Amino acid sequence: MDYRTDRLILHFVTDDDLAEVVRTWPSDHRPISKAEARGVISRMRDHYAKNRAGCVYHLCLAVCAADEPGAFMGWCGLDGRRSHTEPEIFILLDEAYRNKGYGTQCVKALLRIAAEDFSLQGVHGGCAKDNIASRRAMEKGGMVQYGAEENGDPLFHMTTHNKREAISMYYVGIDVGGTNLKAGVVDEQGKIISKVDCPTQVERGHEAVVENMAHLALKAIEKAGVSLDEVKSIGIGIPGVLDPRTGRVPFCTNLGWHDVPVIQLMQKVIDKPVYVDNDATVATLAENVAGVSAGAKSSVFLTLGTGVGGGVVIDGKVYSGAHGVGSELGHMITVAGGELCTCGNRGCWERYASATALIRMGTEAAKKHPESVLNEAKSISAKTVIDAAKAGDKAALEVFDEYTEHLAVGLVNIINFIDPEVIAIGGGVSAAGEFLVKPVREKLAKKVFYKTMPYARVELATLGNDAGIIGAAMLGK
Ligand SMILES: [Zn+2]
Repeated sequence: MDYRTDRLILHFVTDDDLAEVVRTWPSDHRPISKAEARGVISRMRDHYAKNRAGCVYHLCLAVCAADEPGAFMGWCGLDGRRSHTEPEIFILLDEAYRNKGYGTQCVKALLRIAAEDFSLQGVHGGCAKDNIASRRAMEKGGMVQYGAEENGDPLFHMTTHNKREAISMYYVGIDVGGTNLKAGVVDEQGKIISKVDCPTQVERGHEAVVENMAHLALKAIEKAGVSLDEVKSIGIGIPGVLDPRTGRVPFCTNLGWHDVPVIQLMQKVIDKPVYVDNDATVATLAENVAGVSAGAKSSVFLTLGTGVGGGVVIDGKVYSGAHGVGSELGHMITVAGGELCTCGNRGCWERYASATALIRMGTEAAKKHPESVLNEAKSISAKTVIDAAKAGDKAALEVFDEYTEHLAVGLVNIINFIDPEVIAIGGGVSAAGEFLVKPVREKLAKKVFYKTMPYARVELATLGNDAGIIGAAMLGK
């Protein structure tokens, strides 16, 4: 057995699983003996115990000679043929180690060994299908093909050309606010690996702000413990009007920007693909990838704050319309001739369903009802109204009932129009929790058109302030 041959097959399994793997290994896979395997394991441990203890310690290794590669290979390679000469690596982790990142570390260690220790040109991999970490890590490397079940063990198989491709799997997301910049490294599943922030320093001008963004991104990458090579792209969520295709921001009030080429400026500092989109799109994407709408083919995200922002996902993609100005849900008119909106129209939904609306209604109710606890607050916030309603204050309850009625009216329009699977509600008012969504659901039940048919679940958004980072990162996925 020569480990350095390019006809080498490594089979990683947990220590306890080794016997089982050897037993179930397909006969044409020519497993080596347990003793031989243990020799390789101890060698692997010596090499990687220090910095790769997490993966190598918990794994053991069986090495299979592949003197007749054609006989060994049962699956398609990159070339689509069923026989080829690349070495193969298989990874199996038992229950205790699945989905805890060991698979990813293991893939990295293996690729390093394959490329450096064994001077291999290519690597094939397979792992238990439910070991998401390994699967994700390896998917990035090339073709992934779910094979037939081998002895009842679902495997997948892929080919990678080089280790650099195979280990690139992280995304940087930058959430740009008028006061603070936040950046984070996010994995394929939308999980934040690291998070950092710094002041935006709007007053220093757009070039300085973009420079701050770039340096913050590098800081996040460093904190995550990943190399720049492992970062696929950088995504930026900006609170303003912009063109995602060119990366130009024609106008952004919060940042005082006019016609800023964000992508080009960013790439002066970091040579990576850069994607930009507005904050509402980014938050919508985040909830749809990693939040309460994860996995839904169609969903709507709403943020009830100063206005009503949000976005629509159709067939897994954020829909922004033919001219990029669609999904302005807050400006659909729900009360003809109603309250004047910042957009110049009257009766926009956000005049009735935003935190601002709740404050306005609460302030009016306080004047009409001197006995209400609303009058005890120095200034009325959305929280003041919600807390008073929760405490049973009659005037506040009436306000909240009117508010949820307006909210439900807009939601039923959305449901009747696009019939999404999920409507996720975020933003300041969503802090009211079930106290908010329960009456909204009850009102919806009476308003939806097809009362006997299932319709959208109305849920609280789950990502909160992290949505900006996660969604921005996922722009590049
Ligand atoms: Zn409006």
